[in-house]
Amino acid sequence: MDLKKFLLDIIFPQFCLGCGQEGTLFCQDCFSTIEILEHQFCPFCKKPKKVLSKEKCRIHQTMNLDGLFAATSYKNSLVKNLIRNFKYEPFLKELRGPLTSLIITQFLLTKNKYFIKDKKNLLLVPIPLSNFRKRWRGFNQSEEIAKILSRFFKIPLLNNGLIKIKKAQPQVELSMEERERNIKDSFDLKNPQAVQGKIICLVDDVFTTGATMEEAAKVLKKAGAKEAWGIVIAREELIGRVSRA
Ligand SMILES: [Zn+2]
Ligand SMILES: [Zn+2]
Repeated sequence: MDLKKFLLDIIFPQFCLGCGQEGTLFCQDCFSTIEILEHQFCPFCKKPKKVLSKEKCRIHQTMNLDGLFAATSYKNSLVKNLIRNFKYEPFLKELRGPLTSLIITQFLLTKNKYFIKDKKNLLLVPIPLSNFRKRWRGFNQSEEIAKILSRFFKIPLLNNGLIKIKKAQPQVELSMEERERNIKDSFDLKNPQAVQGKIICLVDDVFTTGATMEEAAKVLKKAGAKEAWGIVIAREELIGRVSRA
């Protein structure tokens, strides 16, 4: 072990958030217990759909979001714990690597053709945070995930293109209808030309009702984006439906 790592370890010893063993924040053993989802579902009602099919379920035909890639379920308590430690105190930014590797694992497992061979016109767009939120956390978690995906799959990233113009309340405590109202008209696109004809992959950490992703997809499609997909680490269990804004 090199001296630098040794010193870091005695000053800030790291323990796995899953099993407590010393070494890393998230050990290989715990990583392998997380179930990676190999199927796709309608983002709004969880009806199963063919992987990468643009066909939408019958009742959600008019939605702007074409589909969702969720690596795992937010019901998994270990996943929930990791994401909480990443987004909230103690803001463990270094968890971005292990968390994003869940997405990468899914894409490799399911041979996601968009990320493996048909990369043409693909553009990663992180869901933005308000400046207030970003200052509070010190980073935008979606941006951190998107940066790693961009590096790994060699796909361009549009950073600070989609911006948050309205300071919405945190969505956590809100009902479904309140979430939709809260997020409406809260995004703007700085350079619409950058998304024209592109297949956009919106990146976020957790997918809940889809109100945020749908609103972002709406703005992007309006500007001429060809497709809009969502990519998240984990999906929450369905708690309501989002209607077309
Ligand atoms: Zn562990
Ligand atoms: Zn549906």
